[in-house]
Amino acid sequence: MKKVYTANSPVELAHAQNILDGYSIASQKRNELFAVRGEIPFIECYPELWVVNDLDESRAQQILVQEMDREPSGKTWQCVNCDEVCEDQFSDCWSCGSPRP
Ligand SMILES: [Zn+2]
Repeated sequence: MKKVYTANSPVELAHAQNILDGYSIASQKRNELFAVRGEIPFIECYPELWVVNDLDESRAQQILVQEMDREPSGKTWQCVNCDEVCEDQFSDCWSCGSPRP
């Protein structure tokens, strides 16, 4: 099992899984329940998509970058509160929870 995608919402997660289904890549969703947010560490609250077969990891990531029409990975922003560097898809700091500046 390898994580290939972190979504901003369960809807986006389902969309990502549908795309992988279309390429016959088996995947599994995690952290789908946004309702539990606040009871578990912040970073674990984002819904994630994992491929069942590790060998599908790089291919699945490539497909999702193309199909989800997202900014290329590697784009980051820095938290003004704790100086943590966060990935572009996060609207709040993953470390301290401060909103993106
Ligand atoms: Zn922070």
